[in-house]
Amino acid sequence: MKITQLDPFILHVPVTRGGIADSTHSVTHWGMPGVVIRTDVGLSGFGYCGTHAHLPSDKLITSAMTDLFGPLLIGQDPRKVRHLYRAMDREPVNIWIGRAGVTQMALSAIDIALWDLKAKAADQPLWQLLGGDPEKRIVGYNTDGGWLNWPTDQLVDDCKRMIEVEGFHAVKMKLGKPQPMEDLRRVEAVRRAIGDDARLMVDANGKWHLADAMQYGRRLRDYDVTWFEEPLWHDDVTNHATLAKAIDTPIALGELLYNVDQFRPFIEAGAVHYVQPDVMRLGGITAWLQVAELADAHRLPLVPHHGDMMQAQIHLCIAHRSCWMLEYIPWTLDCFEEPARVVDGAYTTPTQPGAGTTLRDDALARFNVLT
Ligand SMILES: [Mg+2]
Repeated sequence: MKITQLDPFILHVPVTRGGIADSTHSVTHWGMPGVVIRTDVGLSGFGYCGTHAHLPSDKLITSAMTDLFGPLLIGQDPRKVRHLYRAMDREPVNIWIGRAGVTQMALSAIDIALWDLKAKAADQPLWQLLGGDPEKRIVGYNTDGGWLNWPTDQLVDDCKRMIEVEGFHAVKMKLGKPQPMEDLRRVEAVRRAIGDDARLMVDANGKWHLADAMQYGRRLRDYDVTWFEEPLWHDDVTNHATLAKAIDTPIALGELLYNVDQFRPFIEAGAVHYVQPDVMRLGGITAWLQVAELADAHRLPLVPHHGDMMQAQIHLCIAHRSCWMLEYIPWTLDCFEEPARVVDGAYTTPTQPGAGTTLRDDALARFNVLT
C-alpha cells in the first residue's frame, strides 16, 4: 500500500447555543483543520486537530500538513506509521521552526490519519489493533454545561440535567470569574444540585496565579472536587508543584503541552496527579502512547482532553491501562460515520475499522471552509 495524495480540509462547526467561554477563550465554532490521506488501494485515512476556528491559523496548519510533511509521505506505506512519525519529527525544518504549535498540530493530524489507515488496512477498530479490551468501561464526563459564560442558574440546570436526565456520573465546570469567591459560590451551587455521588471537576484554564490558587483552591475540598484543572499558567512546573503540595484537591493538566518532553518535568516534580494529553496537539497517537507509558510508569491516571472530540481517544482509552475516564463535548458528533457515544455514563465500544475519525461526506461538504 502506498500513499498517493493528501487532501486538506478545514471544518468550522457551530458550538452549543451559539457560543461558549472559559477563562481564556470564547468560541462560536470548533475548528478542525485536517487531512484525508489517500492510497493506491482505495483506503483513505482521516486525521485532524482542534482549534477555535481561526481561519488564518487553521490555514497555516493545513499548509504545514501538505507543504512541510506531505513530501515525506507520498509513495510511502502508511502502515509504517512509527517510522514515518520519526522521519517527520526529525525533519530538519521541523526541528528548526517546529516541535510545538502549528507544525506539531499538523503532525498530530497526519499521525492520526496514518493510524486510521493502519487500522483500516488490518480491518480492525484501532483499540483492537492496540490490544484493548472491548468490555473496558470508560467513564464519560460532560463539560458542555459548565461554561463560564453560563449564568449560575443555567449552569446549575445544565449540570443537574446531565446527571439526572442524560445519565452522566461526572461533570466539569469552568472557573475564572473576576472574583474567586464567585467561582466558589458557583461550585457550591453545582455540588448541591448534583448530589454527593456524582464526580465534579473544575477547570481554570490557566488563569489563576499561585496566591489565589493556594488561598481559594484550598476550599475546593469542601465540595469534594475530583481535580483542579490547569489552575496556573500552562508551562509553569514550579508553581504547580508548590500548589500540589499545598492543597488537598488533585491537580490535572497537559492539554496545552506539545510533546512528551514537556510532560516529564511536571510528572517528576509531583506537579500533576491526572495527566491530560490531547492527541490532536502533542503529536498524534504515536506521541500520545509515549505520554501514556510515561504516566503509567509513574502510576498516574490518564484522562485525555477532548480536542479530537473523543473520536480517536476513545480507542486509545480502551487500549491503554492508565485510562478510565474521557471528557465529553458533543459539538461535532454529526460529522462522523461512527460518532462517540455515551450510554449510562460510559462510552460504548466502537466497532468500525479505523481510528474513528472518518468524516461523513455531508459534513465535509457542509462545514469545509478551505477554498
Ligand atoms: Mg481544560
